[in-house]
Amino acid sequence: MYPDDSDEAGNLLRIYQQYFMVSNGAQLIIKELKEQGKDLHKMNQYAAIQINDTHPTMVIPELIRILTEQEGFGFDEAVNVVSKTCAYTNHTILAEALEKWPLKYLKKVVPQLVPIIQELHERVAKKYKDERVWIIDREKRVHMAHIDIHYGFAVNGVAAIHTDILKQTELAPFYKIYPKKFNNKTNGITFRRWLLSCNHELADYLTSLIGDGYKTDAKELEKLLEYKGSRKVLDQLESIKMQKKLQLCDYVKKHEKVTLNPDSIFDIQIKRMHEYKRQQMNALYIIHKYLEIKSGKKPERPITFIFGAKAAPAYVIAQDVIHLLLVMQKIVNEDPEVNQYMQVLFVENYNVSYAEKLIPACDISEQISLASKEASGTGNMKFMVFA
Ligand SMILES: *Cc1c(COP(=O)(O)O)cnc(C)c1O
Repeated sequence: MYPDDSDEAGNLLRIYQQYFMVSNGAQLIIKELKEQGKDLHKMNQYAAIQINDTHPTMVIPELIRILTEQEGFGFDEAVNVVSKTCAYTNHTILAEALEKWPLKYLKKVVPQLVPIIQELHERVAKKYKDERVWIIDREKRVHMAHIDIHYGFAVNGVAAIHTDILKQTELAPFYKIYPKKFNNKTNGITFRRWLLSCNHELADYLTSLIGDGYKTDAKELEKLLEYKGSRKVLDQLESIKMQKKLQLCDYVKKHEKVTLNPDSIFDIQIKRMHEYKRQQMNALYIIHKYLEIKSGKKPERPITFIFGAKAAPAYVIAQDVIHLLLVMQKIVNEDPEVNQYMQVLFVENYNVSYAEKLIPACDISEQISLASKEASGTGNMKFMVFA
């Protein structure tokens, strides 16, 4: 689902995949509403379409196409009900993530949508002289987020500060036009996956201390304050942490053929590979530690650096950083002067299932992204559960 987007063929495949998914969704919604005998003019009363990042944006012109070509709607009627049904979530202010498809590509893959997108653009261009809010720019690129903002009923960011940056900076010209559309929905994580399922040892112990109300109401964790400073509780938490580290050591032995020291400090950085997340800074720190040990300065406790990351296929710098980490892993782990004090591991195929095993075993979680670039981040929250 993530084709190489460095050439035309990869981009055309992405557009085709996006269209395939949203056209199926649009057709299903219309089919079900008709089966239920609903009036499609009131579609917004029965369905809400949350455009999660710019990838499903073509659902807007596709719905307009189906309503006008197959359901007897006039163009204005279709635009009106679709705009009341769709809303857009922005996930990042990084410019390279906001999709801008060359009109030429859309003409090749989805020619049926092009006249609709052009009409949506004409309406915007007629109304607003500020070209920054236009859908099709001077280079004939279609700004997908702009379709969402003009022809959806709401726009949200994923953290208070992120939404603020959208309003004040990145999307300021749009905020001026549509101040009421903008709102914030702060991201979160679920205890179902990130506590109850992946660490039932900790969940069961918490239940023995404060009952199980915390499972559906996180505020009940405040009941733990009763045990503040309790040696017995801290010892038990430490013993659960050791259990999870031992489980991770077994899993890593099996999947990476690397033997980790469970008595070492597990220092973990797991997230998408990206320059703004600064895996390279962590790598420089590890090289510094390695050189310290080589020069005779031994750490008080051994430390294990663990990385996990997915990278976009055509992201060359990501491949260089992964290469660096793998070379460091080989040098450090094979050096008998160093490997009793320090180990490095870059796990294969990092994904949610792997995260569920790594996070409960973590002593130090690395959250070192460049200030202002991480719109929300949820890895941090998963780690806080086990701090
Ligand atoms: C939670 C999660 C992320 C997001 O992590 P961040 O540190 O917020 O970037 C990425 N990948 C996987 C597999 C996750 O579980």
